[in-house]
Amino acid sequence: MRHRTMFAACFLLIILFSLASGCSSERSAKQIKAIGGKIDLTDGRTTSHAMKLDGEWEFYWNEHLTPEDFREAEKKKPDYINVPGSWNTYITEGKKTSGNGYATYRLLFKTRDSAKLGLKIPRMFTAYQLWVNGEQIASAGTVGKNRADMSPQYLPQVALFSSRQGENEIVIQLSNFNHRSGGMLENIVIGSEKQILDMRYQKIAREFLLFGSLMIVGLYHIILFCFRKANLSPLYFGLFCLFLAVRTLLVGERMFIYFFPHFSWEIAHKLQTLTFYIGVPMIVTFFNVVFPTHFHHRIVRVIQGIAAVFVALILLTPVRIFTVVNPGYQIFTLCVIVYLIITFIKIILQKNRDGWLIVMGGIAIVLTSLNDILFLSIWLNDNSLPLLRSIIRTDNLSAVGQLIFVFANSIVLAKRFSNSLEHEENMTQELKEINQNLDYLVKKRTEALDESRRELEKANHTLAQIARRDSLTGLWNRRYFDETIEVEWRRCLRHKKSIALMMLDIDFFKEYNDYYGHLAGDDCLIMIAQEVRAIFRRSTDLTTRFGGEEFIIIMPEAEKDEAITMADRVLKRIHELNIPHESSPVISRVSVSIGVTSMVPEHHRSSKELLLMADKALYQAKRAGRNQYKYLP
Ligand code: GH3
Ligand code: MG
Ligand code: MG
Repeated sequence: MRHRTMFAACFLLIILFSLASGCSSERSAKQIKAIGGKIDLTDGRTTSHAMKLDGEWEFYWNEHLTPEDFREAEKKKPDYINVPGSWNTYITEGKKTSGNGYATYRLLFKTRDSAKLGLKIPRMFTAYQLWVNGEQIASAGTVGKNRADMSPQYLPQVALFSSRQGENEIVIQLSNFNHRSGGMLENIVIGSEKQILDMRYQKIAREFLLFGSLMIVGLYHIILFCFRKANLSPLYFGLFCLFLAVRTLLVGERMFIYFFPHFSWEIAHKLQTLTFYIGVPMIVTFFNVVFPTHFHHRIVRVIQGIAAVFVALILLTPVRIFTVVNPGYQIFTLCVIVYLIITFIKIILQKNRDGWLIVMGGIAIVLTSLNDILFLSIWLNDNSLPLLRSIIRTDNLSAVGQLIFVFANSIVLAKRFSNSLEHEENMTQELKEINQNLDYLVKKRTEALDESRRELEKANHTLAQIARRDSLTGLWNRRYFDETIEVEWRRCLRHKKSIALMMLDIDFFKEYNDYYGHLAGDDCLIMIAQEVRAIFRRSTDLTTRFGGEEFIIIMPEAEKDEAITMADRVLKRIHELNIPHESSPVISRVSVSIGVTSMVPEHHRSSKELLLMADKALYQAKRAGRNQYKYLP
């Protein structure tokens, strides 16, 4: 997936590259050089291609001559100068060192037929008037013989004219008191109207494509930065794009001049130079933000500092002064480029994930800028080294580099944004899953908790039961009796109902134990207890083991008659149980003595009295011979 994206990116880059570099007919032209101020364009090749009017032009230093001047029979013997190139070298030989001055250029060219032709005229340094066959067809600025009389202008343009069969003449008056270099530093191209106009349109289209792309990409990244200020790289990148966009209008075909025809040459020149001067530290700062670990912060600071000094120089001095230091800044830029390339190589060696794309873009912009700097450099213009000239023939190649750089970085930034978005989506999904799990977990835990709560309740209940029950017989115990008797006493007090109490004691149980053993005694206790419980079936009745072989029964809301009936029934039923008791002096089976009492509770009495009375009645039953009941009111 990732590789496919990379391939797509490379493919797009190649398309952009070819689009931006274009197939300018300017470069495909077969070159014929002017010799001795004359050039022959009658050759078939020259009509099918636009031609550069390079070579030796007639040169008249410190003279402004018109076409009429050349018509006079005896004219001055001409000097010759190489075009393109500044006249600074010419002046140097004449022991002058600056580009200031004025001159006339003249070239004769031969054509086969009369035809509609065009000249593509570059910017000239820094004002000119141009005649073809005696007719003035182009100018830029105002020519003059000193600084006060002239005004400079850069105005690349197309001039159309009709050629005549045979010899034609171009005369150009030039003057410069505003720039370090003077003269024709770039090529004049001649061709058919269509060839020249096509060339112009192609260049303009390419520049506007570049301008628009850079503008949009720049604004987009600045807006991106506005939404997320934590990351500085989109800001630097966006600003750099806007810088390049502005520069695009100021260089090349200089479309800027068509938007603002009366814009000051000085200020436009300053702006153009500033975009270059500020662009250098800006791109270094950008790379420093993207690869902070690979750059020495001190070197970055030094670069920014030096650039700041040059920028100040541009702001404070006129063009003719600061253009003198321009070579210095170009050398400085070369050093920066070397530093960048070294750092790029380091980054590539470390195999950073997106590194290679940024570095590729970086190398593109750095190498194309190198090309442009060399192309515009004084060595090339002043010395015209044939070898360098043959390598570096295209100006403004950095536009292509800029586009590649911008495009590569846009891909990386877009990728980073989408990656972090994807990361966030994954996190959200994970979080959602965790939350869902959490819900489930909480539910499970709650269920488990409920379960253990229920178990605990059950255990508590059991514990409470155990605490209230007698372990041997399973009847209620003495403790529960004490709690209940109070409650029932008060209930009957409230309802003014009678409450009865029955106390029951097994006769001669000690003897039973002695005779049958304690285990048999236990069994006997259990049997008696079950029987008693079976007799008292009312829900309010409470059968308890009072202690040892004694039992006590609370009968709420029972009156004397009912209590006596019950006592009678207990005696009978235990008799019917027929548990043998050989050692009993009364009867040879287990018997019980019972004391019964009942009363309607009153406020000044207590449940203790009831117990006391039952005990007393039991005592009486024992005294009376056992195996019987006694009632006491
Ligand atoms: P009386 O006819 O006067 O009631 O004489 P008694 O022997 O029944 O009464 P006494 O109070 O003298 O003796 C009670 C005996 O009950 C003493 C004890 O050994 C026996 N006993 C008390 N609790 C238990 C028990 O849990 N299991 C057994 N096997 N015997 C018990
Ligand atoms: Mg007893
Ligand atoms: Mg007893």
